[in-house]
Amino acid sequence: MKITDIRTFLMQAGRPSPSHWAADGRSDDAAMAQGKLGGFRNWLFVKVYTDAGIVGIGECSGWPRVIETAVQDLKGLLIGEDPTHIERLWQKMQIAMMGHGLLGTVGAGAMTGIDVALWDIKGKALGVPVWNLLGGKMRDRIPIYSHANTAEMAVAVAGRGIRMIKCGGVADPVRKVATLREAVGDEVDIAIDLHGPPWLTPADAARVARALEPYNLLWVEDPIAPDNIDGYKRIRDAAHVPLAAGERMATIFGERELIERELVDVIQPDTGRAGGLTQMKKIAAMAEAHHIMVAPHSGSLGPVAEYAALHLLAAIPNALILERLDDDWPGRARTVSPHPVQEGGSIAVPDAPGLGCDIDEDFVALHPSERNVAVPVAETDRSYAPGTHREHVYVQTRLRRAKYFTGG
Ligand SMILES: [Mg+2]
Repeated sequence: MKITDIRTFLMQAGRPSPSHWAADGRSDDAAMAQGKLGGFRNWLFVKVYTDAGIVGIGECSGWPRVIETAVQDLKGLLIGEDPTHIERLWQKMQIAMMGHGLLGTVGAGAMTGIDVALWDIKGKALGVPVWNLLGGKMRDRIPIYSHANTAEMAVAVAGRGIRMIKCGGVADPVRKVATLREAVGDEVDIAIDLHGPPWLTPADAARVARALEPYNLLWVEDPIAPDNIDGYKRIRDAAHVPLAAGERMATIFGERELIERELVDVIQPDTGRAGGLTQMKKIAAMAEAHHIMVAPHSGSLGPVAEYAALHLLAAIPNALILERLDDDWPGRARTVSPHPVQEGGSIAVPDAPGLGCDIDEDFVALHPSERNVAVPVAETDRSYAPGTHREHVYVQTRLRRAKYFTGG
């Protein structure tokens, strides 16, 4: 079997529902809710064609509009190759991109879509699901969590049978978590994603993490900017809360420090940009050796990457839970066939050969990419409210600390 062609399918995925993060009070979310800020989320699907008539599919995140060009550039390396030699092709792509610097989430994102498509081809050629190639099935269903930032949203999510919710943002984390715990009680797990901007300083993040201890969170995610690995050590030493991170890193080399230094309890590689199933399986094994669980990041991902995550989580022992935004955009379910249905807080592991899904190319073509970066509205861009979540800076020290750290 030989690879004969590689094609990309880029689409404007529609803006995420403002219900997901709007309660943060962040001005760009407010602008989105008012329709001032159009969508900037793109999904990029990749199809790898073979002379055997088998077609594999994958998905790339990491900056899809840019990655589309990278995938086209990599195509010349792969035409004529045997698609079943996945590791060898992975190494070939990595070596080819080395001249551009470290892979990062953009380079690894390009390789991810191709890698997943190769696993899909192999599964279809052998007549087995991808989870079978990854070691076999550990479980039949994968638990999922959804986002909620208000008591009403949390109760609605729990009402759909989902047993974990995640809130997000750095606006008012302690009060928000207290509100959610009050709303859903102890039968639903809660996590918080402290992602910026503005990111907290390590000192402030440690203080917030300590204040969150009484709420028994499943994890505190991305408490500081991902550039500062040493900062995680400081938070680790200061607070007894499980930490999660890793969505902005790629490959075993990018995730290595968080895992080897045991700076997190949950590693969150993104199924669209961490380097594909080839890398995700290795990342999971590294994490397993340190008793770290895997909860793949899905925040901006489309439905094909979700399939890849389901197969991975079916096969690895240290699978924790999958992030799912199934109600973020009505077009999601129309993009992929079949669209996995959540029941009782989990999704059944697919059983068809390969990934077990395909995209609706006509529907994708109806949604051409417009832009792929968030463009702040003018008032956000000039925002300078020192020490608050409205300050337009990357990292910042929080002011009015007595109030911020107590949730009062
Ligand atoms: Mg996150």
